[in-house]
Amino acid sequence: MRPRLLLKSAVVAALATAASLASAQQVLNLYSARHYQTDEALYENFTKATGIRINRIDGDDSGILSRLKSEGAASPADVVLLVDAARLWRAETDGLFQPVKSALLEQRIPATLRSDDKGQGSAWFGFSTRARVVVYDKTRVQRSEVDTYEELGAPVNKGRLCIRSGSHPYNVSLFGSMMVQMGPAKTEAWLKGLVDNMARAPKGGDTDQIRAVAAGECAVAVTNSYYLARLMRSNKPEDRAVVEKVAVVFPNQDGAGTHVNISGGAVARHAKNREAAVKFLEYLASDEAQRYFSEGNNEWAAVPAVRTANTALQAMGDFKVEQVPVSAFAGHQAEVQRMLDRVGFR
Ligand code: FE
Repeated sequence: MRPRLLLKSAVVAALATAASLASAQQVLNLYSARHYQTDEALYENFTKATGIRINRIDGDDSGILSRLKSEGAASPADVVLLVDAARLWRAETDGLFQPVKSALLEQRIPATLRSDDKGQGSAWFGFSTRARVVVYDKTRVQRSEVDTYEELGAPVNKGRLCIRSGSHPYNVSLFGSMMVQMGPAKTEAWLKGLVDNMARAPKGGDTDQIRAVAAGECAVAVTNSYYLARLMRSNKPEDRAVVEKVAVVFPNQDGAGTHVNISGGAVARHAKNREAAVKFLEYLASDEAQRYFSEGNNEWAAVPAVRTANTALQAMGDFKVEQVPVSAFAGHQAEVQRMLDRVGFR
């Protein structure tokens, strides 16, 4: 081998080493409102597969949104994970995301679970789903009295209802969906009915409403499905006791179907690592990641072909999902909030 060539190949080898070091050290900045322990394993597997390290910055949803706003173009955020469509919609509207065109994501994530594709791709994608279900006291309530959302506002349920704050995004999204389906006048009358039927003023989170049913403080509660599933899978005697007292119903099965919300992700508007960010979103749509969402946090996979192995979700059974696109119901937040103020739903 001539010296010149030797030198050349040495340089090539050195460059290759430098390149692989650089890629081993590539860091993706993730702003996440998903503070579920099981998500850790997800990030580790992504790093193993790609060499890209995840630097996770935790916050609650509104904290993340205001941080992105104040950081502006200087934001180090590459990927943003939020829970609830209402918040994803808000962030998109505030210009905090950039559209992503990915054949893989389009093929894996149903169109109803991602933002409107305006020709440039979607601004956000749902990666897991949760249903807004009704839990009731088996000894005091007939299933037929609570198997629609509409009935929760009817006189038969007077003094029975426990529900968290009307302004919480989980409720704002449900009410926005009712608005799409029933129109504003009927929706406002229904919300007034909910207020009239409350067993107590709204307080606490969804799990507190389930516990209040078991404790006899109310007879009917509205909750996201994963909070109930978490209790169903718990080994604590006090959780077992709660689960034994209550039954669950997926509302509106004979009508439009049960309201389903998402947890989802997006590429940040000013992402410095756009390519890696898209890779990460695509990873979240993989079978492996989808199963993590389902087994870890008791959510359903967004990818229809991925069946859950979660025993609590299996026990709840299959159900008809409302077909209102997430991007349609999430856009009614301001109108819903005005109605809540008028009917006194705090
Ligand atoms: Fe939650």
